[in-house]
Amino acid sequence: MTPQQKSRPDGGTAYARTNAFNDTPIDRVLHRLEKVKSTGTGKWIALCPAHNDKRPSLSVKEADDGRVLLKCWSGCGAAEIVSAIGLSLADLFPGDRRSLSDHGTGPMRRPFNWQDALKGVSHEITVARLIVEAVNRGEAMDVESLDRLALAEERIDDALRAAGGVQ
Ligand SMILES: [Zn+2]
Repeated sequence: MTPQQKSRPDGGTAYARTNAFNDTPIDRVLHRLEKVKSTGTGKWIALCPAHNDKRPSLSVKEADDGRVLLKCWSGCGAAEIVSAIGLSLADLFPGDRRSLSDHGTGPMRRPFNWQDALKGVSHEITVARLIVEAVNRGEAMDVESLDRLALAEERIDDALRAAGGVQ
């Protein structure tokens, strides 16, 4: 599968899913940015508010600890970006932790891991096979199994998105 950035749909579903939690750093940031698109789990691109951005060049990531990582590919600093949307660097951190010296880069930036992704896909296929085998034995296809199959599809789609594939 080759990445085809152009055919990505507008508006990320992952973004919509997080709307319920209005108080997290990632939502504070995403709600103030324009042309936000999900590019994978916990990852978005948007127009950079700190320079005259025509094509989204701001990469936004939510780290495992809830921090927001900002990277403008035109070189704007995190401080410029947050002040352009009326926030401060402290708003990028969850709770009361205001470690202002520690922003943007760090060990949270990790590459996409194909092995983990394929292990995940393999697991979902196993789940699907077990359900099919149960049905084959004559067990009724219940709502729970259907839901589980839908979840498997969603997880594989997520892996594809994280890998940069079109979805
Ligand atoms: Zn910028």
